[in-house]
Amino acid sequence: MKQPIQCELWEKPELARLPIRECFELLETIAYESHHWRYLLRCRECGQLYFFEFLEFIDWKHGNDPQYSTYIPVETAEEIEILKSTSPGQLLLFYPRLQIDRPSDAKSPSVSWIGKDEDLPHPPTLPSRLVAFVRRWLFASIRVFRAGRS
Ligand SMILES: [Zn+2]
Repeated sequence: MKQPIQCELWEKPELARLPIRECFELLETIAYESHHWRYLLRCRECGQLYFFEFLEFIDWKHGNDPQYSTYIPVETAEEIEILKSTSPGQLLLFYPRLQIDRPSDAKSPSVSWIGKDEDLPHPPTLPSRLVAFVRRWLFASIRVFRAGRS
């Protein structure tokens, strides 16, 4: 998924804590069950599309139900179809994604982008830094192997 660098949410993910309606326009309701919602949203500011999921788990012990919201920037109909075919919670395989996590023991939710840093691999290509590291390691091993034989 492409990084939505033009979107205000990219630099200010905490904006996603505002009521959904303030930041987004609802384009499609993909799922709407009591503890699982999925929407296709459009940013009111820049028009960026987001695949949104809300998940709530019932915490019988504490009554403070853990809640998780995920926003994944999407562009093409194909990307949207792929995300639609995933099961609840499987969106964690995609990035970049904006997550609002509130486990049952948290006082306030944590809001952050996952996969914003370039250190994380962006499929399908490996980050150049990792490739360079592997190449260096391979050459070093070959040199050690040759040195051992002579
Ligand atoms: Zn935006």
